[in-house]
Parts: sequence; C-alpha cells; structure tokens
Amino acid sequence: MSTSEDVSPRRIGVIGGGITGISTAHFLRKDGHDVTVFDPGDPGTGTSSGNSGVISTGSVVPTATPDILLRVPKMLLDPYGPLSVRWRYLLRIAPWLLSLVRNGMPDRIEANAKAKAALLDHAYDAYRVMLADTGTSGFVREIGTMAVWESDAAWQNAQWTIDLMRTCERKFDLLSEDDIRQMEPGLQPIFKHGYFVPGNGAISHPGDLVTALHADFIAQGGTIVKQPVDRIERIDGAARRLVTGDTAHDFDILVISAGAWSNNFLKQIGHSVLLDAERGYHIMLPQPEPGLNRPILIAQDTMFMSPMAHGMRLTTGVELAGTEAPPDYTRARRMVSRAARAVRNLDETEQSAWLGFRPSTPTSVPILGAAPGEKNVFCAFGGGHIGMTLGPISGRVTADLVAGRDPGIDLSRYAVSR
Ligand SMILES: Cc1cc2nc3c(=O)[nH]c(=O)nc-3n(C[C@H](O)[C@H](O)[C@H](O)COP(=O)(O)OP(=O)(O)OC[C@H]3O[C@@H](n4cnc5c(N)ncnc54)[C@H](O)[C@@H]3O)c2cc1C
Repeated sequence: MSTSEDVSPRRIGVIGGGITGISTAHFLRKDGHDVTVFDPGDPGTGTSSGNSGVISTGSVVPTATPDILLRVPKMLLDPYGPLSVRWRYLLRIAPWLLSLVRNGMPDRIEANAKAKAALLDHAYDAYRVMLADTGTSGFVREIGTMAVWESDAAWQNAQWTIDLMRTCERKFDLLSEDDIRQMEPGLQPIFKHGYFVPGNGAISHPGDLVTALHADFIAQGGTIVKQPVDRIERIDGAARRLVTGDTAHDFDILVISAGAWSNNFLKQIGHSVLLDAERGYHIMLPQPEPGLNRPILIAQDTMFMSPMAHGMRLTTGVELAGTEAPPDYTRARRMVSRAARAVRNLDETEQSAWLGFRPSTPTSVPILGAAPGEKNVFCAFGGGHIGMTLGPISGRVTADLVAGRDPGIDLSRYAVSR
C-alpha cells in the first residue's frame, strides 16, 4: 500500500459508538478530521459496557474447537453448559454454524489464532495511547488475569489451548495450587491448575470508560448524532451518504463499526460477511471480602469473575438467538451458585442483570480495512469475544488507512473478501 501520508481534513461519518466506533472516531479526530458518530444508544449500556472488562492480549484461542461437533450436543444438554440456542434461530444461523465447524480443523484453528495474535500484539499500545490522550488511564489496571481449573481431567483437556498460546508466542506463567492460593486468597481453595497472563489488563468500569471517551470526543470538537443510521446511499457512484429518518448526511468517508449490526450496512453496498451475535450475559453481585485481585476465568464453568469499581461482575454464556429476541437470564442466574463455589464469601444477591451482543465471525478473526471496491468506506467490526480489547487498535489502523499511513500490520487476514 501507499505510505505517502495525507492527513488533509475530511468529513467522516462513523456508524456505531461502541468501543470500536468511538476509538476510531478518536484516532480520526486526532488526525484533524471532522468526525460524526451515529449511535442511538447510550454508551454506558451497550455491549462495550457490560463485558468482563479484560484487555486480553493473550486471547488467541478461537471459538471453534477441534472437537466442536462432539462438544456442542453435550453443552446444549448441560443446564450449566456455556452454549444455548433458540431453536427458531437455527435456520438463520446455519451458514455461520457450518463455517464454525469448518474452522474447527486444526490448520484453521492455528491460522485463525495467528491472525488474532498479529492484531493483539498491537492492542495494548493503542489502548495506552488512547487512554493517555483522553485522560482515562485511571480506568485500566495493568495487573494481568488468571484462568483456573478444578480437576486434573479438565486441565488435561485444555492442554491444546495452552499449546496454541505457546505457538502464538503469548506470554503466560503456569500456576500451581499454592501459587493460585497466594495470588488470589479470595478464591475458594478448590483450584489445582491455572495460568497467569501478566500482559492482560482490567477495566474498572467499561461503561464509564466508553461514556468518558464519548465525552472527550465531544469536548475535542467531535459530533455525536443519537439516531440510528437507516441506510447508506451513493452520490455519483460513491457510497458517502448516511440517512437518518428524513435527513441526509454527506461525508467524504464512511466507517462501518456497528458491532453485531454491521453486516446490514455492508449489504447495502453490495457485500456480505458471516457475522452474528454471540449473546452473553452478566450479573452484578456485591463485592466480597477479601475479594479478587484481578479478573479470573473459572475455566470449567466458562465464566469470568471480574472485580469492578461497582461490584463483582459475573459474565457468562454464549446464546445464539440474534439481536432481536428478548433476554433470558435463567442460565446466567443459575451460574451465581457456581460463582459462590469459586469465590469466598460471595453474597449471591443480584444487583443487576444485562445482555450484550458479541459481534462474531465464525473464524473469530475480525473484519478490518477498506470495503472491497470502495475508495471511501472502511470496516471495523467483528471483534467477538475480544472486541473490547481490539477497539483502539482497530481505530488506530482505520485512521492510518484514511491517512495513507502504513499501519504496520498485514491486513489481508482481516479483509472482507479474505
Ligand atoms: C458477556 C460478554 C463479555 C465480554 N468480555 C470481554 C472482555 O473481557 N474483553 C474483550 O475484549 N471483549 C469482551 N467482550 C466482547 C466485547 O464486549 C465486544 O466485542 C465489543 O464490545 C464490541 O464492540 P463494538 O464497538 O464493535 O460493538 P458494540 O459495542 O455493540 O457497538 C456497536 C454500536 O452500534 C450501534 N448501532 C447499531 N445499529 C446502528 C444503526 N443503525 N445506526 C447507528 N448505530 C447503530 C449500537 O447501538 C452499538 O452502540 C465481551 C462480550 C460479552 C457479551
């Protein structure tokens, strides 16, 4: 690609104001562009607000696993299993599921993990820059995260993920039972195996962080339109108009960063990718004493326990039901008793419950870069389980592309037509 930089100010419309859209808006505005973000939602309530709050540079393992076809029926039958499907949605998600199964082939798992790793290698640096620029560094503690297992058998089953992390050169330390007790005295003494990822970070309140990023963007001269974009239109062949209700907004450049809703916009300009919502839930609980020092993955129950500024957040589950079906908190609530088995003195009184929509591709590799055949439309979505981590790097890369700067990352793996 060209490396001749061109930061002449342009009018840019960004669809979606989650972590990806607001990070993109930040880096574009920093380059001097006139940026407008469209989002009807409250930044403190969407998917980027209710997650586990982990900046997870170690998370290379894709959703598709080698034994996925065997595991899925077992997961669906287990009332505590991590996966649920609304059967009426099965037909709609069938192509995505078939691709997920195909991506469970060992060579694909490794290729997809490496593609994630190549982006994750730059993720923390982009975060640090954005947090420093916006005065929000206080939201993030660089304290690492931990994953723990109770049984020898489950730990053995997880060895392929440990091997994959090694293959992808992730830095982590294996933990003994004693290490776990010393590092996390707030855990029940039932965990025999684990690992610690020192390079991961913890966000104390993701919703407040995204809200603060919105406030900073406005303070720096950015515009936020709190309305949904209905459609993209072409002017003289170029896709550069966004329509909200009866109003047309014309731009030089558009960015599609509408999370799980992004494919609607890609389709309007003649393209499509396999993207669906992996729905996930959280339950907020009171902070226990002594509490946890960092977010911890309770691996056998596939739930994260994240100590946050406003309580203990239990995040769990993948539900395949699209973006329209109402929430069903049954399984998430069921997991509270499991959480109490894992964390000492946990008060099981629910403070609030929440549903979010991971924007997921079946490869677990995000979409990032120019839309095919379009000079002025860029895509930044599909972060899936690590979208909170990838927001700032996706924004930095998009700003580089708009400016004609080399992003320093081979983007072919993240292309719409990969
Ligand atoms: C339970 C759970 C735990 C998670 N934990 C982590 C974690 O610890 N670490 C991590 O890295 N990731 C985590 N994730 C994933 C992460 O939260 C998401 O990948 C990420 O928030 C996606 O950000 P986004 O900006 O791409 O999408 P979103 O945050 O969904 O933002 C998209 C925005 O587009 C807007 N939009 C939709 N339609 C329109 C329209 N027509 N016009 C304008 N705007 C529109 C929406 O209102 C929304 O605000 C978790 C997710 C869940 C559900």
